[in-house]
Amino acid sequence: MHLTPVEAKERIKKLSEEIKNELINWRRHIHMHPELSGQEYETGKFVAQKLREFGVDQVIENFAGTTAVIGLIKGKHDITVALRADMDALPMVEKRDVPYRSKIEGVMHSCGHDAHTTILLGAAKVLMEMKEHLQGNVKLIFQPCEERMDCKGAKYLIENGVLEDPKVSAIFGIHMFPELPAGKVGTKIGHFMASSDIFRVKIKGKGSHASRPHMGVDPVLIASQTINSLHHIVSRKVDPLHPAVITIGKINGGFAENIIPDEVEFSGTVRTLSIDLRDQIPKWMEHTIWGTTLAYGGAYEFEYQYGTPPVINNEKTTKFALSMMKDILGNENVVELEYPSMGGEDFGEYLLKVPGTFIRIGTRNEEKDITAPLHSPLFDIDEEVVLLTGTKIMAYLAYKWLEENS
Ligand SMILES: [Zn+2]
Ligand SMILES: [Zn+2]
Repeated sequence: MHLTPVEAKERIKKLSEEIKNELINWRRHIHMHPELSGQEYETGKFVAQKLREFGVDQVIENFAGTTAVIGLIKGKHDITVALRADMDALPMVEKRDVPYRSKIEGVMHSCGHDAHTTILLGAAKVLMEMKEHLQGNVKLIFQPCEERMDCKGAKYLIENGVLEDPKVSAIFGIHMFPELPAGKVGTKIGHFMASSDIFRVKIKGKGSHASRPHMGVDPVLIASQTINSLHHIVSRKVDPLHPAVITIGKINGGFAENIIPDEVEFSGTVRTLSIDLRDQIPKWMEHTIWGTTLAYGGAYEFEYQYGTPPVINNEKTTKFALSMMKDILGNENVVELEYPSMGGEDFGEYLLKVPGTFIRIGTRNEEKDITAPLHSPLFDIDEEVVLLTGTKIMAYLAYKWLEENS
C-alpha cells in the first residue's frame, strides 16, 4: 500500500496528536531529572529504553564511550536522514514554581534540551508507526554535551563516525526559541548562528613599588591598553557588513593599591558568522597583543581555543524545510527569520560535514506567563503546544526528505 502525500501528512499529524500526553509526561520526567553536560547517564538510559519499546531497529547506547544514544530506523532504500537532539542541562537553580520543577538542586533544563530530547523521541515513535512507508533510514542522534567545550559533544561524535555507516545525506535539528510564540517555527537560509571561541591572555610585566613605576614594567597598564586595542579590531579591521563580537569578560591581577604586580590575566569570547573571519580574528588579536606588549617592554601568553563553528544552513535543505513546515503547520505558522543570532551551537559541526538545517521552535505564551529567555532560571515552554509542533515537523521532514531523495 502506498500513501498519497495527503494521507502521509494527515497520518503524521494524527499519530503525533495521539501521543500528546506521552510527550508531556516524557518531557516532565526529563525536566525533573536534569543532568549536566557529559553526565547524561539517566537521560541516555531513558532514551534508549524508549527507543527499544518503539522497536527501533538499532539502538546504540554509550556511543564512542559517551552518554550519546544513536538509533537507526531502517527503511526501504539506501539513503539516510539524521535528526539530532541535545540532552544536557545547565548548572543553575530553577526558580519557576511548577509541578515538574527540577528535582536536582542546582541543575536545570533552562535551554530546553529536555524538550528537544522529547520531540526526537516523539518523532521516532511516529516514524516507527510509518516504518513500512519509509523510503530510507532515519538516524536518531541523542547528543550529550552541547553546552560546554570541555566534554564530548557533536565534534567528538562526528570524529567517531556518527554520520557514517549508514552515511547521512542530510541532517535537521531544532532549538527552543522564546522570541516566537508557541505553535510557530522559523529558520533562514545561510548564516544562522555564530561561531563561539574563547581566549586567554596573560600580560607579563615586572613587579615593583607603586611609587617607582620606572623601576618596573606595569602589566595593569599594558593590559588596559591591550584590551582597548583589541576592541578596535571589530570597529577598524572587520568589514562593517560582517558581524563579529570580541568580548573580554574577565580580568584578574594585582595584590594591593601600592604594588605594581608582575602579571595580569584576562579572557573572553569571539563570535563571528563567517568561517573566514573566524580564521582571521585570532591573527589580528595576536598582532595587537604582541605590538602593545612590545611597546611597553612586557611579554605575553596568548591562548585561543576554537569552540563551535558558525551554524550555516544549507540552501537546499532549508528551502525544503520551510516548504514542508508550511505544508504541515500552515503558512501562518512558519517564519522566515530575517536575522541570524550571535549565539553559538555545536549543531554547526554537523553542517560542516553534511547539508542540513537548524530550526527554531517558538515557546512563548504570555497568558501562561511563559516569556523568560533561554538560560534564565524562569525559562519554561508551553508544553501543550511546543512538543506537538516539534514532533510533527521532525517526523515530517525525515519522512519527506527520504521520499523526495530516494
Ligand atoms: Zn544553551
Ligand atoms: Zn541549547
